[in-house]
This record gives sequence, structure tokens and C-alpha cells, in this order.
Amino acid sequence: MRIFIVEDDLVLADGLKNSLIQSGYAVDLAINGADADGILAYQTFDLVVLDLGLPRLSGFEVLKRLRSRSSKTPVLILTANDDVDDRVKGLDLGADDYLSKPFILAELEARVRALIRRGQAGGSAILTVGKLQLDTTNHAATYNSASLNLSARELAVLEILMLKAGKVVNKEQMLEKLCNFDEDISDNALEVYLHRLRKKLDHSDINIRTIRGLGYMLESNA
Ligand code: CA
Repeated sequence: MRIFIVEDDLVLADGLKNSLIQSGYAVDLAINGADADGILAYQTFDLVVLDLGLPRLSGFEVLKRLRSRSSKTPVLILTANDDVDDRVKGLDLGADDYLSKPFILAELEARVRALIRRGQAGGSAILTVGKLQLDTTNHAATYNSASLNLSARELAVLEILMLKAGKVVNKEQMLEKLCNFDEDISDNALEVYLHRLRKKLDHSDINIRTIRGLGYMLESNA
């Protein structure tokens, strides 16, 4: 899942970025409103964390422009403590949730998970396909209740496939969700993650099929 952080407080921005990366998200960062607006005009994210007080273009304006392009990307705004007017204005402009500064990281992460879930089919914290389960809160996958011991990247790949179980996910879509600007994942790397996942699911009834020229499809043969 791909998250875009827009925050001009560099210490806070770096802390957010690192903690979300550790939780397995692909994270990009902009430190002013004009850059954020330019990036949002051509890139798609699963969630935007948007500070309101930004140089060069306010967070309100970034949000307004995003929604004027008919984007449904969930937006979590960061507001100054107790600023009710900002909160109301942000929500009116199409933000999905807000968090007042200062906040604790655990709460931000919980809201991030909830918003991403809401933006996806089903909306459940636990994805299930046959006997395969992925707990998006605790970042763990099990088959028949036994842990699969997946790396953060393997989990991220599996989550994308499980969200679209029974449907083809094309390679470009997968790469887009897994990459950020600093780090490109090659086709080959994706193949490696898929190979490892298939190996770990070897004795299960879960199949990750390659649909030649189209992409990949996860299905249960149960
Ligand atoms: Ca700010």
C-alpha cells in the first residue's frame, strides 16, 4: 500500500515516513504544498497524510485541488491542536479523517489502517481467502492457523493479491503500490517475492497463478 506524506516539519515527516515504512508501506514525502499538488496530479496513492499549514500552497488548497480532480484517495489531515475551524473546513473540503498535533504514532497508524481498509473492498482488518488469513493490523499471515513467517514485502504483495482474490492484478498495478520514488522495485524483484510466497504456500490450497501478459491471480482451490 502506498502512502503520501505532506508535511513541512522535517523531523516529524522523517519520523512518520520511517515508522510507516517499518510497517510495510511504500511511503513518499513532499515538504511543501506546491510539490504535493504536482505529484498528486499524476500519481495515485492509497492514502494521503496531509498537514494543513504548508509553505507555497496550503493543505486546504492541495485538498481542494485533489478533490476537484475527482480523486477518491482517502486523506488524513493533520491539524494544530484544538483548531476546530480547521478541522471542520478540512472535512468539508473532503478530508476523511483528522488528527490533532501532537499525536502519538500508534494512533496515526491505527487511523491509517482504518482509512486504507475503508478505501478497499470489504473493510475488514483481517483478509481471508480459504484457510489463508492476513491480519493487516498485526502484519501477520497464517495458513490453517499456522504462521507463514512472511517478510514485510512478502506481506505487502500478498495483501494486494488477497484484496483482489479471484481477479487478475496486473504487474504495473502491483509495482505501483509497492514502490516509492526513492526505491523502484524491478519486475525481477517482484518475481522473487512471488516465488517465495508460492514456496511458503506450497502445501496449501492457495494458488498464485501467472496469467501470461496480464498479471497474477490468487485463488483458493478448496
Ligand atoms: Ca506545517
